[in-house]
Amino acid sequence: MSSVVVLGTGMAGLGAAYRLSQDGVLPRMYDKNAAFGGQTRSFRYDTGFTFDLGPHISFTKDARIQALFADSVGDEYETLQVRLNNHWHGHWPRHPVQANLHGLPEDVIIKVIADFVEERQAPERPINNYHDWLLASFGRTFAELFPLQYTRKYHLAPAENMSTDWLGPRVYRPSLEEVLQGALSPASTHEHYITHFRYPRRGGFVSFLQKFAPLGDMRLQHELVAVDPHARQVSFANGHVTGYDALISSVPLPSLVPMIKGVPDNVVEASRRLACSTCVLVNVGVDRTDLSPAHVTYVYDDDVCFTRLSFPHMLSPDNAPEGAGSIQAEVYFSPKYKPLTGTPEDWIEPVIRDLRRVGLVRESDTILHRNAVVLPYANVIFDLDRSAALAIVHDYLDDIGIAYCGRYGEWGYMWTDESFRSGEAAAQKVLPSVRRASPNGF
Ligand SMILES: Cc1cc2nc3c(=O)[nH]c(=O)nc-3n(C[C@H](O)[C@H](O)[C@H](O)COP(=O)(O)OP(=O)(O)OC[C@H]3O[C@@H](n4cnc5c(N)ncnc54)[C@H](O)[C@@H]3O)c2cc1C
Repeated sequence: MSSVVVLGTGMAGLGAAYRLSQDGVLPRMYDKNAAFGGQTRSFRYDTGFTFDLGPHISFTKDARIQALFADSVGDEYETLQVRLNNHWHGHWPRHPVQANLHGLPEDVIIKVIADFVEERQAPERPINNYHDWLLASFGRTFAELFPLQYTRKYHLAPAENMSTDWLGPRVYRPSLEEVLQGALSPASTHEHYITHFRYPRRGGFVSFLQKFAPLGDMRLQHELVAVDPHARQVSFANGHVTGYDALISSVPLPSLVPMIKGVPDNVVEASRRLACSTCVLVNVGVDRTDLSPAHVTYVYDDDVCFTRLSFPHMLSPDNAPEGAGSIQAEVYFSPKYKPLTGTPEDWIEPVIRDLRRVGLVRESDTILHRNAVVLPYANVIFDLDRSAALAIVHDYLDDIGIAYCGRYGEWGYMWTDESFRSGEAAAQKVLPSVRRASPNGF
């Protein structure tokens, strides 16, 4: 039997296992965590609340992935119409703000529109970075008040040091008509690129992966510490060592690369230049459900510690005890741009304080649950170093025959469906070598 080793049991690792299973290959899968699911794990606490590891909803438009996830939960999922809003200095505009200015102070609206029009009439300038793109798309006032401020809190790198190759539909560029309509009327006609989403009825987001777990021979609590590409061996912190014919990895590149025996210094140095955010998630449960009209809120204010809020009890009643509501706050750091100091728990009280200041938690509310979790790798930061550094790392992994996949293997802005497909593609890539190693079939 030839052996395929898959590192990581998140969306990408299980996407790889799924593709391999179609050719009758059962990979050995390793993960340092005690449960499968990676970034999409869900935790049920003794307080009766369920929180995902970061807010997760499935908005894939890929019918095949929709069907796979639905099958994984036996069609037991909720379909909800997405509701998003924003918080800025006591105002709660709908999302995206650029098409929903209604309700903001009059002087702000006038200045935003005047700058927007001026920018549209100005001669075209070269776009060298995300800062240039924002000014050209929205005009100076809007760019400075909203997306540049959000960038400081979410992406953490200066916008002048960011590329634009990650944008896709993520940051919406409205027409003048849309800006005007959204300023004059509380009901703009703009449709967000996500209109509906799905969420499992029970067990949190990870339930969408349940059916894929048996497709690998899973070894949890195995933390990879070394890869020897010449001997074709991987070693783990608990002393376990195993050989492989094909290796698929979804381990984040800055962690993986220094573990590779014989890796050249320039490749290690390139992997260190790959920037990422770290997210402290603060989970709060309270004794009422009418916390927010929106599933997700983007928060721009400098003096509010969290950047984004979500409300898990609105995704499925199973996520909170009856009559209770839940809030998940995201506070962002980055080893390269804004290192996290102290412990994740240090952020529980500041988050609850700021939830009270913005009016989402009242003095009269009873806090039923509070905890904090850290995601060391959250969002890839598309700074100007990324693309050259990534090419060096990927070329090297290609040379030594490690198939990388997933958000932190491809090092991209990938959603769950994209990470799953990336795992499938990595499996597809190694299958010919597996077939060679096992001439009599699997
Ligand atoms: C805050 C946040 C919110 C998000 N919201 C959404 C959303 O709403 N919808 C959506 O579609 N996508 C969302 N995403 C994106 C989604 O989480 C990712 O695309 C997807 O989960 C990545 O899967 P992956 O398998 O590539 O990585 P991971 O899930 O991170 O898997 C990598 C695995 O490798 C393991 N590993 C790492 N190092 C080692 C080691 N040394 N030894 C052994 N194992 C190791 C890890 O434990 C992990 O299990 C969100 C992401 C974040 C950060």
